[in-house]
Amino acid sequence: MVIARTVAELRLAVVAARKAGKTIGFVPTMGCLHVGHLALVDLARREATCCVVSIFVNPSQFGPKEDFSKYPRPFEEDCRLCEARGVDIIFAPGVDFYPAEHSTWVSEEAVSQGLCGECRPGHFRGVATVVLKLFNSCLPDVAIFGRKDFQQLAVIRRMVRDLDVPVRIVAAPTEREADGLAISSRNRYLSPEHRARARVISEVLRRAQALVVAGECHAATLLSAASRQLSDEPAFRLQYIAIIDAQTLRPVQKVTHGSSVMAVAGFLGETRLIDNVDL
Ligand code: AMP
Repeated sequence: MVIARTVAELRLAVVAARKAGKTIGFVPTMGCLHVGHLALVDLARREATCCVVSIFVNPSQFGPKEDFSKYPRPFEEDCRLCEARGVDIIFAPGVDFYPAEHSTWVSEEAVSQGLCGECRPGHFRGVATVVLKLFNSCLPDVAIFGRKDFQQLAVIRRMVRDLDVPVRIVAAPTEREADGLAISSRNRYLSPEHRARARVISEVLRRAQALVVAGECHAATLLSAASRQLSDEPAFRLQYIAIIDAQTLRPVQKVTHGSSVMAVAGFLGETRLIDNVDL
């Protein structure tokens, strides 16, 4: 497994793989890898013959009061996990991945606007910019993103479409803990008590799915049932709960089978958690 620290080193490794007739599958991450990330690696290895994982805690997607400096960075352990999973190349640039006086940004202006975009101003501008930089550094055939960050996935798809970026985007399902909690690098911030209470998030989403299966299709009814269930868990501070169209991310009044998503975000203590399901 090659560990590339600069764009030049990454390009050498990628060119060598291409000369050997390989296709490039790319998994961008911020490290602190867990089974959700590793499922993305497995998918990349099915979609392409050379798997590149980037590990970069991207400063530009964190707000001033967010957890950039305390974000966990267990780099050696990440490398071990990648090697065991068959990753070919790790790209782990330093902060100089952004040159001094970097001043060019990618701003998607529709699907990035509500939901997490409203709670985290500037977040998706940072995400779109770093992902385009990573794509330009790696030139992958295919890139894998998790559905857990469904708004991020929508922003990336839109950017790739609008800017003619020559990469195929593949979405991977959300990996969950046994009690349903979506796996996240941030789950390790939770106290044992908050960790136990965090199951309410996926329970609310599963209940909404069950109500839809039972015939309920009014978003207002589903949202008020979900809000009531969440307010029964006083430790959870809701940021938003929404039922939206999977393509436009605009709120819908009626659930359409296969194209509506319920999404939720909120805090347990200082830890911000997000989750979503197809309805
Ligand atoms: P992150 O390191 O949090 O930036 O995430 C890197 C990639 O892993 C993103 O495409 C995420 O959507 C994806 N991801 C994170 N958690 C999960 C999960 N529980 N299941 C599937 N994919 C995930």
